[in-house]
Amino acid sequence: MSCFADGIKDISTFFSGFSASKNREEAVNPILDSTIDTMQASSLESLTHIVREGEKLSSIASKYKDITYQEIAQANGIGDPNNIYVGQRITIPNQPASPAKPPKTDPSFKPADDSTSIGGSNGSGCKKCSQTWDKFTNRRIKKLHSKIRCKAFDFINEVERKFYIKLRVVQGLRTIDEQNALYEQGRSKPGRIVTQARGGRSYHNYGLAIDIAEIRNRKVVWNTDWDKIVPIAKKYGFEWGGDWQKFKDKPHFEITFGYSTKQLFEKYKKGDLIDGYVNI
Ligand SMILES: [Zn+2]
Repeated sequence: MSCFADGIKDISTFFSGFSASKNREEAVNPILDSTIDTMQASSLESLTHIVREGEKLSSIASKYKDITYQEIAQANGIGDPNNIYVGQRITIPNQPASPAKPPKTDPSFKPADDSTSIGGSNGSGCKKCSQTWDKFTNRRIKKLHSKIRCKAFDFINEVERKFYIKLRVVQGLRTIDEQNALYEQGRSKPGRIVTQARGGRSYHNYGLAIDIAEIRNRKVVWNTDWDKIVPIAKKYGFEWGGDWQKFKDKPHFEITFGYSTKQLFEKYKKGDLIDGYVNI
């Protein structure tokens, strides 16, 4: 039940992971978003290509129509085709004009609304609070079992609203395959042992548990104000790992709906699933 007892023991492994992915996102997205800018509107137009890591002038040329890397080099005054750099803006001349974009008033257009697709049937009405202050938390909550998504959103948001404490979900769903892979680490696979549990023995494996930490001044604070936070979590039905007798696991909250992990694993093995999650 405990994420220290049967989950990941070494908390630092979470955090090296999440800060790396954050940095990667910040580094990559601006490039992805603006790889090709339209330069002018006519039947033939020049496009701008922003060089990404690993690209060569020849591989760039192959992405466009009827153009060689020599022509691109010439158009950009590049003497040595090998001498390009990540982030460089390169003009790609004489490209067919891109099709006109659909008008914004397109009647088929509907704004994305995550709140209608999550937990809609459980009556907990989280339509207005399906986002938290934190995109990592949002993403992790959306992967939880649909029966606890809204409760998790409500919990994080109420703590922030009442106490100005910013909580982050640092671990939510960990699939049974992921748990098994983790279990083999230090046993049949290289590395050190980080878990005592095979897949299926943690509520995290069913999307029914979260581990939280406070983010204060952009730093992770593990020892947050439990006296304030825990009553709110319990109001939404969470059990707290800090109440356990054997392995106190303060960052851990779960909702079991009265099922043991053994019972949940039986459901999983029988294929008693809805949308890939155990049917409860
Ligand atoms: Zn946990």
